[in-house]
Amino acid sequence: MSLLSTIGRFCLNIICPPVCAICRKEIETAHCLCPECFGQLQFITRPYCQICGRPFEYNAFGDLLCGRCMEKKPPFDMARSVLAYDAFSKQLVLAFKHGDHTELTPLFGKFLLSADPALFTGTDMILAVPLHRFRLMKRKYNQAGLLCRKLAGHTGIPYFPDILKRVKATKSQGHLSRRKRQENLRNAFRVNAPAKVAGKVVLLIDDVMTTGATVSGCAKALKKAGAKSVKVLTLYRVVSF
Ligand SMILES: [Zn+2]
Ligand SMILES: [Zn+2]
Repeated sequence: MSLLSTIGRFCLNIICPPVCAICRKEIETAHCLCPECFGQLQFITRPYCQICGRPFEYNAFGDLLCGRCMEKKPPFDMARSVLAYDAFSKQLVLAFKHGDHTELTPLFGKFLLSADPALFTGTDMILAVPLHRFRLMKRKYNQAGLLCRKLAGHTGIPYFPDILKRVKATKSQGHLSRRKRQENLRNAFRVNAPAKVAGKVVLLIDDVMTTGATVSGCAKALKKAGAKSVKVLTLYRVVSF
């Protein structure tokens, strides 16, 4: 860092000191959390299902699949999530989703990069789960798109914002059951340029994974367009045992 930018940052910190994104306590570095809040985040670690990434309470037999994946393989080839979505981490999600906390993008970019390295090996392109344009206008920006740009910068894997489109303004999913979510999302996604994804390994990014219905809808559309493999990475995951 140059002397000038060090001085600039010093002055900026006096006028507007960096604060923790959750508790708003003053901290030393911008775009971060205080150590207490960081310590309360639940990172998802092994053991988890080798396909869908659902964490297991315990796993005595090495790499396993969960019951759901054993019964029927999902349309994506692997899914991983960084953090468990709970009452505490929820504060961070809501700030990023609906507020103007775009300053959290660098931190979230680092979180995504800390996920299973298999997500990035041999991957040709990064795509975001798209918002329908009406919702995009309401929220001003696509949070998954912001994460993709950051991740593309870190990994060197190109991000294509216009390949995957949401063609149906789906109802908000929050209150729907697993089955209703799947119905709600049937044919909701379309691949704009199938030739670009044909034979390619795609990494699909979203902010929160709940039942997996949204990423499954996207993965189905991508596979139909000829994608060789679809990997999924989300920042959060609703974990229920
Ligand atoms: Zn804090
Ligand atoms: Zn599974």
